[in-house]
Amino acid sequence: MLVLSSPSGAGKSTIARNLLEKDPALSLSVSVTTRPRRGSEIDGVHYHFVTQREFERLRDSDALLEWAEVHGNYYATPREPVEAAMAEGRDMLFDIDWQGALQLKDKMRVDIVSIFILPPSMTELKARLKRRAEDADAAIEKRLQNAREEIEHWKEYDFVVVNHDLNQAYAEVRAIVAAERLRRDRRPGLFDFISGLLDEKL
Ligand code: 5GP
Repeated sequence: MLVLSSPSGAGKSTIARNLLEKDPALSLSVSVTTRPRRGSEIDGVHYHFVTQREFERLRDSDALLEWAEVHGNYYATPREPVEAAMAEGRDMLFDIDWQGALQLKDKMRVDIVSIFILPPSMTELKARLKRRAEDADAAIEKRLQNAREEIEHWKEYDFVVVNHDLNQAYAEVRAIVAAERLRRDRRPGLFDFISGLLDEKL
């Protein structure tokens, strides 16, 4: 399970999109949210957009692996797709906040790799949020306030990447994923491979 968190506007979603495009072994956990859909978003692809009532129904029926209130809206990870991916040994990417990351670590008994993405400065973060122009001014102010709170949780993550340059930040995230996949304890086939090596007649 690969968790990417960052304050809004730090480039996390672009990095996540690039990762998913280039890495067929990785699938995205599509979250449920009560936030209104942005013009560029597709229901079922970027999020499952639900009403407050539907959200409460999902939460109360234990269909959510974690949930949190972020910027005044509810967000959550549906349980079923994650459990299916884990059972099949597929890697899954989570674009969730620190509250969600903490709950996943507590609940899932599988290993999680977490990466926190930082903006190069708060000034640049504000400029990126304005450039994106997908949220109203009040929503941007709220996201900036919340960014400070989110950043305070950086120590809970395994890796920290500063997004000075999108290509560089993306390359760093790819390097982390590649290295984590090479860990001995994540390679069940290695035992047989090495036995074969040692048994090889020369
Ligand atoms: P946005 O509204 O910009 O798409 O997302 C706002 C924040 O909510 C982002 O930091 C994003 O990572 C977080 N978020 C998105 N989906 C989930 C989720 O399922 N659970 C939690 N805890 N946070 C989420």
